[in-house]
Amino acid sequence: MRVAHWVDDAIRLLAPERCVWCGSADAAEGVCEGCKAELPWNRVACPSCAQPMPVIATCAKCLRRPPAFDSAWTAFIHIEPVRRGVHRLKYGAQFEQSRVLGTLMGRQAASRGAPLPDLLIPVPLPRRRMFQRGYNQAQELARAVSRACGTPIDAGAAVLVRSPGDQIGQTAAQRRRNLRGAFRIERNLQGRHVALIDDVMTTGATLDALARAARRSGAAKVEAWALARAP
Ligand SMILES: [Zn+2]
Ligand SMILES: [Zn+2]
Repeated sequence: MRVAHWVDDAIRLLAPERCVWCGSADAAEGVCEGCKAELPWNRVACPSCAQPMPVIATCAKCLRRPPAFDSAWTAFIHIEPVRRGVHRLKYGAQFEQSRVLGTLMGRQAASRGAPLPDLLIPVPLPRRRMFQRGYNQAQELARAVSRACGTPIDAGAAVLVRSPGDQIGQTAAQRRRNLRGAFRIERNLQGRHVALIDDVMTTGATLDALARAARRSGAAKVEAWALARAP
């Protein structure tokens, strides 16, 4: 993983910066003006689960069953070009994607007017997945977010004690059941304000389970942050 970052940095020094999505040479910090204008910011959303909404209001689902975290925020909606960026990061080890997307996310977090957390905790990957992929995309993103907003990251704070198995095709209730007790926090978070970081937030079940673990460790305020919200 270290080597991959080193290679990425070296390429950046040797080659002029191009847009990470369309390849245009006219790009500052890895994004051209055209792609920047098309970024799907998630500005009007449910404050509890970040679901895009017509107006800022708590959605019906959160009113029925409030999540374990105090609030949720994602920089983007999971559509193009962000979806392509996440895919390339997750399956193609393209770390320039986490650098560019994480920087945009971190700057947005710092400028949105809400108090910043004390600590960023990335969602850990199942051991088998980590072994296959060699890196955790949530951790890669969190590192860039941390640099951009100044909040420290503690990548070893959360561990997955039990693999939740394949969640594809499961209902939200099934996911919640599967994830019960799956995470443990290895730190004392007494009185701390933390943000849990994931790449994409879908049902929110993973972040919900990790938020429960953070509460058990004493966290006073738990936010769920993701790069993008699946609409
Ligand atoms: Zn572009
Ligand atoms: Zn909601």
